[in-house]
Order: sequence, then C-alpha cells, then structure tokens
Amino acid sequence: MASPIKTQLVVFDFDWSMADQDTDRWIFEVLAPDIRRKMKTLKDSVQWTDLIAQSLQELHARGGTREQIEHTLRIMPFHPAMVRGVTNLKEASNPSTTFFCLSNANAVFISTILESKGLQNLFEEIVTNPAEFDPSGLLKLRRRVDPNGPQHSCTVGCSPNMCKGEELTAFLERHKPGYDRIIYVGDGSNDFCPILRLRSQDMVLCRRFRGLERRISQEGGLQCQVKYWAGAWEVEEIFGQLV
Ligand SMILES: [Mg+2]
Ligand SMILES: [Zn+2]
Repeated sequence: MASPIKTQLVVFDFDWSMADQDTDRWIFEVLAPDIRRKMKTLKDSVQWTDLIAQSLQELHARGGTREQIEHTLRIMPFHPAMVRGVTNLKEASNPSTTFFCLSNANAVFISTILESKGLQNLFEEIVTNPAEFDPSGLLKLRRRVDPNGPQHSCTVGCSPNMCKGEELTAFLERHKPGYDRIIYVGDGSNDFCPILRLRSQDMVLCRRFRGLERRISQEGGLQCQVKYWAGAWEVEEIFGQLV
C-alpha cells in the first residue's frame, strides 16, 4: 500500500481556473469595448502583457480611474462553489494543503479579487506579473521576466513574460522537502508546460473546452493523472475527495 498523503500542494492558475472569467479581457469589455477590440487586432503582433500594459495606459489617458478598475474586478464572475471549495480544503488538516497561485494576470487584479472574496490569506505565494497603481491612478504593469534582462529558456511554448514550468520548479526549490502530492488546476495552453513536470502521484484538474484540454489530447506526454471539470462546483467536489 502506498504511503499516506500528509502534505499536498494545490497550484492554481487564476483566469478561467480560480475565477470564472479572464481579468485582462473583462476589464476592457466592461470599461472600454473599443480597446478590447483593438487588443484582438494586435494580439498576434504585441506580446500579451505589453499589450495589456499599453491598453491600461490608454484607458487612463481617457479618464478611466482606479476605482472603476477595482469595482470592475470585484463584480467579475467568481463561483461561490470555488470560494467554498478552497476554504474547506485549506481548513482541513489531514492532509495539510498549501496553495500556490501561478498566473499570467497581474498582482493588482488578483489581490483585488481575492480580497473581495475574503480569500486574501489563501495563497502561500502568488507568482504573476508585477503591477501597481501610481499616484495618478495609472495601473502600471510589467512582465514578470524583464524584457531587458536574461530570458527564460522554455521550449514548450510559454510566453516571454513567464514560464510557468520554471516558476513551479523554482517554488518547489524554495519549499523543500516538497509535497507528497501536487494538484494543478488550470485551463490554458500555458498551463501545459508546468504539468509536464508533475509526477505519477500528482494530478491536473483540467477545465474542459479550453487550450489545456486541446494540448493534453494532441501532445500527451503527461505522467500525472488527469481529471476534467467544467464548473467550479466540480472542483469543489474533487477537493472533497482529497481529504
Ligand atoms: Mg487561465
Ligand atoms: Zn514553459
């Protein structure tokens, strides 16, 4: 019989995984649909994080405020079952669960939403693109990997701003001796790189009908178990089986 699980790590992507929407797109769909349209036009020629940074500058230049951005984040779809599921899992003591957020959104979007759901203490660490409001109310956003410094060495297809696989490995290096089991919750094609690094006792909770499901079926190569879900209530259900 396998040894019992005493510690587990839950790694969460944010957009369309923990939250039921995509923060980068939602902000502009609500506050400036014409900028949202422009993002669609430019997304193949401008790196995504840079594109959001420049779109935030454009929003600010036409009078968009910090308060509008924060309000728009607080009303973004977020399933109550997700709040319940993560809260109950964190409170359970056997096994003990650590939460790690790994996201291509940004620090302000994520922390504003987590606070509005009472989840501001959920994560041990949040690794994402740095962002902060300046005194004028402009949300200044930068890539996690500075374009003027050394670049990551990912060959799996991660965007230049961050390799989620390398970030997961670095997190595990910072938290030795590691965890008996890792559960990765994701939906996007950029969640494929980190899950290639998971072991046979680990598990990915893959949201259906999005980029990650496509890459798993087309490229394969996973050692971890795969469970599929569509609604947050199913993540809550699976979390209930992990204690
Ligand atoms: Mg996502
Ligand atoms: Zn990568």
